[in-house]
Amino acid sequence: MTIPTRELNDGHSIPQLGYGVFKVDPADTERVVSEALEIGYRHIDTAAIYGNEEGVGAAIAKSGIPRDELFITTKLWNDRHDGDEPDAAIDESLEKLGLDRVDLYLVHWPTPAHDNHVHAWEKLIGIRERGLATSIGVSNFLVPQLEDIVAATGVTPAVDQIELHPAYQQRDVTDWADAHGVLIEAWGPLGQGKYDLFGAPAIAAAAEATGKSPAQVVLRWHLQRGTIVFPKSVRAERLRENMDLFDFSLSDEQMAAITAIDPGDGSGRVGTHPHDLN
Ligand code: NAD
Repeated sequence: MTIPTRELNDGHSIPQLGYGVFKVDPADTERVVSEALEIGYRHIDTAAIYGNEEGVGAAIAKSGIPRDELFITTKLWNDRHDGDEPDAAIDESLEKLGLDRVDLYLVHWPTPAHDNHVHAWEKLIGIRERGLATSIGVSNFLVPQLEDIVAATGVTPAVDQIELHPAYQQRDVTDWADAHGVLIEAWGPLGQGKYDLFGAPAIAAAAEATGKSPAQVVLRWHLQRGTIVFPKSVRAERLRENMDLFDFSLSDEQMAAITAIDPGDGSGRVGTHPHDLN
């Protein structure tokens, strides 16, 4: 199966579908990532704070898959924006992953109360220059912080990884990203199972019409919008289901009906608001 790729604004490319390991128990990580690689995933999204980079690294090492066929993302945690901490943090992440570079390194949250996201971004630029990350980006950055870092450095992030699913689409951020050549990665692409997306009539109807599961319909909606996704599951049958997205498509009408699910008042958000995570 060929996973489509998207071109980043730095000329590198990223598989549009991957596997995210938030809340995968460190003790299980090597096993489930190995399973995911066997099923065909090549893009893995982890973070220092998930505590499971070592398991990801162990699975990569055992897989025998050539490094250039993999796309590995990790993230700088919030307490390491200052001074030379980002340099120490990437070294530690690479050590745990058993890699000499990641494909994508992200500032995990802007932590506005701390207000050092511009410095953290400058550090990521240096990390990319030293070849420790092929591409760099941000996560949970809203428009003001995106504007801050671009104004200060002239370097536009390759991606912004934000909470995004049919009930919470953050159009202000996605419009800014579209206008500035930043790709959007959706975290919580299935609403983390907290929002009853699968019961939404537009999704249930599209699932019925296409013979696919509601989860597959939601993931297909993301892909057709050009969004990068890495749904999480620890169950092999769901890992397979979440990859089986390329033998059907949603019509313009089905896409529009799913897009219309967002109440537009922010009430569909399931995760923490970036203003509140410091
Ligand atoms: P998600 O929307 O992928 O939801 C995961 C949950 O959905 C699973 O626990 C499972 O219960 C359910 N699920 C998965 N596949 C299913 C299927 N086929 N049918 C029915 N239910 C299914 O949420 P997530 O894990 O939070 O997000 C995906 C990834 O995004 C994470 O693993 C992580 O890599 C990343 N993430 C990043 C941030 C950030 O701040 N940058 C925050 C959260 C998550």
